[in-house]
Order: sequence, then C-alpha cells, then structure tokens
Amino acid sequence: MFDFLIDFVFPAKCVICGQPARPLCSECAPERTVGEFSLDSIPGIYVFEYSEELGRILSDYKDKSKTFHANFLSKALSSHLSAIIEKTQPQLIITPSSSRANYKMRGFVPSKKIVAGALARIGWNVEIKTLKLTRQVSDQRGLDRYSRRQNVSRAFLSKDLNGLKVLLFDDVMTTGSTMREMVRATTEAKGNIVGICVLAKRI
Ligand SMILES: [Zn+2]
Repeated sequence: MFDFLIDFVFPAKCVICGQPARPLCSECAPERTVGEFSLDSIPGIYVFEYSEELGRILSDYKDKSKTFHANFLSKALSSHLSAIIEKTQPQLIITPSSSRANYKMRGFVPSKKIVAGALARIGWNVEIKTLKLTRQVSDQRGLDRYSRRQNVSRAFLSKDLNGLKVLLFDDVMTTGSTMREMVRATTEAKGNIVGICVLAKRI
C-alpha cells in the first residue's frame, strides 16, 4: 500500500529506458537465462546470467528501496524455485545477512523479500531464515576477489540447525565468496545443504 502511494505521488521512470511511468517497463524486463552450476559439489541453479540491466534493477531495488522490483524478481524466480524445492525438499531456506545499517536504510532484507514473494506465488510454505552477522562487513560490490573473501570470512552465524535440510538463496553470485561463507556457517551449525539457488550469476 505504502509503496503504491510513493509511486503514485512520485511517478517512476523505467530504470532501463527512462520512460514513465513504471520503475521497469515490460519491454525492458530482462529475459530469463536459467542455468545450473555447482559450488564445491553442491548443486545450484540461477535464473539470470548477470547483465548490466539486471545490475541496474537490483541497484534500484537495494540502494533506492524501489520495492516495486521485488515483484518482477519474485515472479522470475518462482517457477524455478518451485522446481528446486520439489526436487530437494528443503525444510528451511537461508539467505545472507544484512548489516544493521543496510536494514535501517532499507527497512527490508532484499534477498529475503524476493524469496518470500516467490514462495507466496507458488504456495509453498518453507521457513526463511537470515544468517546473523558476527561483525560489520562492507558491500561486496566494488571489491576484488581477494577482498571479497576477506570481507565475509567467518562473518556469518547460524543457530544450531539440527540436520535440517537447507536451501541457500542469494540474489547475486559473483565470485562465490558470500555463498561459500553461507555454506560454512550453515554446515558448522549442522545444516544439511541440499541445494543453492541464486537469482543472478556472473558467468
Ligand atoms: Zn523501459
């Protein structure tokens, strides 16, 4: 409701082409380019190959809190998420941590909102948990491979998961540093990782 009012009072322009009056017009919505990968032998799927357009949508969503984009992203994710859930039967979906500063700025956890929207569309009821941060981390965007690894090393924490089947989800996978830290924290908490799902992967 609130999002709607903001869009109503401040009419949006398409983040890609600049035309009014939607934050993303249907002509500019990127096509899905679904693929599979494996990260340290854990099977994963991605919905989009990362593109400049998708980067602009995600930046508009995360940095400018244009929650409108969550609809497009959740919709794009939903059928693929449904397929991986049917295949792997997770009891829990885990998303990465958001720093307190980011949460305060945005009022939502970007990855969690996308996956929750997709679950609602497909009618699956799987609990979503966000990992805790053990310390402050920087935004991974703009860091090189080595700095990314250093930035998130042992930064995530989960309470004991007691062998629960876990699906890991993140919006973007670039070098895999964040995802590997999610794997480490989840495995250390005795989570049984059955798969990885990312919205966009750099190829
Ligand atoms: Zn457009």
